[in-house]
Amino acid sequence: MTECTLCAGNARPESALPPRERVRVTEHWRVIAHRSALPGWMLVFPRRHVESLADLTEGEAAELGAVLRAGTRALVDAVGADRSYVMQFSEGIRHLHFSLVPRMADLPADRRGAKIGAYNAQDTPLGEEERDRIALSLRSRWP
Ligand SMILES: [Zn+2]
Repeated sequence: MTECTLCAGNARPESALPPRERVRVTEHWRVIAHRSALPGWMLVFPRRHVESLADLTEGEAAELGAVLRAGTRALVDAVGADRSYVMQFSEGIRHLHFSLVPRMADLPADRRGAKIGAYNAQDTPLGEEERDRIALSLRSRWP
């Protein structure tokens, strides 16, 4: 089995992770600032290796809604998002992960809906320092 990068991070103590890798760590989920050009794009994934929504435990499934709600509130407060997008494909990395993405009021028409992926596919991602700064802001506003 090839090494899972999300599991590798999950295996480290939270205190050993840089801010961008620990926006929020709950009982079952970890939230990180994604390597994206769009400030506030987060990845939400279980703290154990799971490849399908069908394989979540009752506890993981029950906590997921609360994490997505809280993350959206943090996006509204930290980056001024109007609302959020939530997507789940888990193609590049098989470990189940959700993109929790700020939907800004001024999002260009050619980036709306699934086309928002262009921020990752076409643009230069934010640097680690900027992702750390945004992660700390999101963390401080997490309800
Ligand atoms: Zn994994």
